Amino acid sequence: MSQWVYGFGDGRAEGRAEMRNLLGGKGANLAEMSNLGLPVPPGFTITTEVCTYYYANGKTYPAELEDQVAKAFAIIEKAVGARFGDAKNPLLVSVRSGARVSMPGMMDTVLNLGLNDETAAGLAAQSGDPRFTYDSYRRFIQMYGNVVLGVDHHHFEELLELHKEDRGVTLDTELGAEDWKALVGAYKAKVEEERGEPFPQDPMVQLWGAISAVFGSWHTPRAVTYRRLHRIPEDWGTAVNVQAMVFGNMGDDCATGVAFTRNPSTGEDEFYGEFLVNAQGEDVVAGIRTPQHLTVKGKTANRSTLPAMEEVMPGVFAELERVREKLEAHYRDMQDIEFTVQKGKLWMLQTRSGKRTAAAALRIAVDMEQKKLIDRRQAVARIDPASLDQLLHPMLDPKAKRNVIARGLPASPGAAAGRAVFSADEAEDRAAKGETVILVRVETSPEDIHGMHAAAGILTTRGGMTSHAAVVARGMGRPCVAGAGDLRIDAKARTMKVRDVVVRDGEMITIDGGTGEVILGEVPTIQPEMSGDFATLMGWADEIRRLGIRANADTPTDARTARRFGAEGIGLCRTEHMFFDGDRIIAMREMIIAENTAGRRAALDKILPMQREDFIELFRIMKGLPVTIRLLDPPLHEFLPHTTAEMEEVAKAAGVDLDTVRHRAAMLKEQNPMLGHRGCRLGISYPEISEMQARAIFEAAAAVQKETGETVEPEVMVPLIAVPREFDILKELIDRVAGEVKAATGVEVSYLVGTMIELPRAVLCAAEIAKTAEFFSYGTNDLTQTTYGLSRDDAASFLQTYERRGILAQDPFISIDVEGVGELVRIGTERGRSTRPDIKLGICGEHGGDPASVRFCHEVGLDYVSCSPYRVPIARLAAAQAALAEAETQAEPSQV
Ligand code: ADP
Ligand code: MG
Ligand code: MG
Repeated sequence: MSQWVYGFGDGRAEGRAEMRNLLGGKGANLAEMSNLGLPVPPGFTITTEVCTYYYANGKTYPAELEDQVAKAFAIIEKAVGARFGDAKNPLLVSVRSGARVSMPGMMDTVLNLGLNDETAAGLAAQSGDPRFTYDSYRRFIQMYGNVVLGVDHHHFEELLELHKEDRGVTLDTELGAEDWKALVGAYKAKVEEERGEPFPQDPMVQLWGAISAVFGSWHTPRAVTYRRLHRIPEDWGTAVNVQAMVFGNMGDDCATGVAFTRNPSTGEDEFYGEFLVNAQGEDVVAGIRTPQHLTVKGKTANRSTLPAMEEVMPGVFAELERVREKLEAHYRDMQDIEFTVQKGKLWMLQTRSGKRTAAAALRIAVDMEQKKLIDRRQAVARIDPASLDQLLHPMLDPKAKRNVIARGLPASPGAAAGRAVFSADEAEDRAAKGETVILVRVETSPEDIHGMHAAAGILTTRGGMTSHAAVVARGMGRPCVAGAGDLRIDAKARTMKVRDVVVRDGEMITIDGGTGEVILGEVPTIQPEMSGDFATLMGWADEIRRLGIRANADTPTDARTARRFGAEGIGLCRTEHMFFDGDRIIAMREMIIAENTAGRRAALDKILPMQREDFIELFRIMKGLPVTIRLLDPPLHEFLPHTTAEMEEVAKAAGVDLDTVRHRAAMLKEQNPMLGHRGCRLGISYPEISEMQARAIFEAAAAVQKETGETVEPEVMVPLIAVPREFDILKELIDRVAGEVKAATGVEVSYLVGTMIELPRAVLCAAEIAKTAEFFSYGTNDLTQTTYGLSRDDAASFLQTYERRGILAQDPFISIDVEGVGELVRIGTERGRSTRPDIKLGICGEHGGDPASVRFCHEVGLDYVSCSPYRVPIARLAAAQAALAEAETQAEPSQV
């Protein structure tokens, strides 16, 4: 016979903490606390298997359930010395939901179940406290009426308000027994009016009604949505906990409260909690009355005028302290606890591992390791890599005032204050003069890149989380608020309006890319740093991980940030911004419109020294660490001059007439530039460009090597290979230039030539490509686009629908699509290694900073991941956790 019901309380339990899958989190921990000898009101848990059974069998229960519930009830009745439904000495219970993981949308707890007109009269007589009794009864009708019978809260609240008005009082605490009794009558009448039948008086009917409601809540739309978003399987089910009531509302020696065993925002090892005297359930968090602090320290820190528990209930407080120590020592983690005090006696009602800020998580993990409660591996396993994002960007000073004028999407984290500018050029000009600017655009395009680089932050009024602005800003580590639709931008007038606020060109604004806030004026920010517990834990992660971690860095600033956060090299240096910058764009355009090689060379000669300087600086900063430089990649189309003014400028520089420029620009226009003249195709048709870039790279390497005496490790990367021959042609060119530079400088530079794998054809031909390519870097952004045949810039409009309808589990541009794109990575890796076993393999898409994707890269056996500088610590930690997960699956076949 199956066991569907597990009892707990009275210093022992049938369950344990490890039985969370069967008993739900709440039930398993109530059992565990009982086993620890903590004071837990007796009760029982109906297992998650009953929930599964219930749905598999047309909402019916297993035959043995009723009997097992009756037996469990008998044990509670004996322990408490009261009987469920007894007219003189009634037992009351709470009915509480509790899945494996806590989940919004599940049924709210019903307290005081078992009360009816008869048992209420009995309880009033027996307790000698009719005020408490009818207060409890009206709470029960409201909770049961709401969560089980679906009668909206406001009906009850209205009746309560009316009654208080009638009586001329404002506080609930000013009402007495007769008031609550009158309200009980009014509440019951309201339920009958709403439901068309009387409020159930039979305690057994109440009980099974509440149990069914818990199981029913597993399928509320909110719960279903939450499970889908968090990938929680439907068949996990929820458990139901039925537990004897203890009362915090029986007078001034009673209370209810919540606490954390440590400070959840700082992680400091101090007791932190709040309570309310003479109150029940969640009054503390409901905000009806101002709660009091547990400790004097907490009271002082929060400038509370109310006495702390430490002062008014020292005995209970001392016991709670002992509970705290016991729980921390046992669970070896910070706990979030709920308790009630009935007539001076403490009762524990819940414990679970507490939510905390990233800073607190680090502090707690490091502290517990030092206290030998956990080891380093456990400490590393415990931190959510994604949460580190909170610590890696400039933050708004929490003490500062903010005048929020609009809100958009939190598209790229971090906060920045600066002068509003309305064009990329203006951003660049002002930045060059040393001003800090925020680039404000309706939306951005590749032509704004130089302005985005120059800006401290980016604000757009259109576009979503995968818009150009959002993606580029995240890559660059610039704070970005996207799609702030309330703002009206007038680019001509260079103003931005919202309601009656007008922000003019050059006025200070602040954006918070973590919350999406747009703020008028300058709010001070705090810079992130990696020190203390953060640095300690990252050091432990580095000891554990196998994957190398590099950064995508295009500029000296990016490179410095990358090093500061522990990057072991640059995995992707894009060279395009080097062509969009200032004067270079003119030379670049000159080159494009040139009609012969000589013209192109003349223009490129102007760019060469600037490009060489760029690389020299990067090599200096990276001090001998590998630097992967990608040859020019974007569509030529993006460099074309558009306006007449721009065309005139180019005509003048090139010494041709306007019509020639116009004609040439028209000829070079493309229908689908992203599938057009770009990547290695540029170097094939204009070898001068690749030659110039290769020369700049090797000359820079030679110069830095000479200057510092340290070796420089450039890795030249050819983008968008589809055909092995494309690679071979460019590799020959690069090798030739390397030889020329060596001959000219006398400096031997060791370098690699490899390719980006970002087209399915390249994956399939990987064995052939690897014959000459010394490394592969999977460009998973483009590989995702080309695998799905999907444009990242245009996907936002339908990706949400796809996710909502479950067609795609998640945005494949954020977390790698393991079955499709991931499979290609796997195939490319196998085939590449088949011809070159020691080929260096990495990934440089945005996925490199996504923990799930990092884990995939570890499993598939890549050598490194490369991500935005601000995500380097996240990747370091995720890589360590991937190694730990692997060790765990290898160590033990299965653990119950
Ligand atoms: P949640 O899952 O929302 O935390 P709980 O089941 O923990 O809901 O119930 C909320 C609150 O109700 C608890 O914090 C506690 O104060 C109160 N409560 C629950 N069961 C009992 C009980 N048996 N006796 C007294 N109070 C209870
Ligand atoms: Mg709770
Ligand atoms: Mg690409």
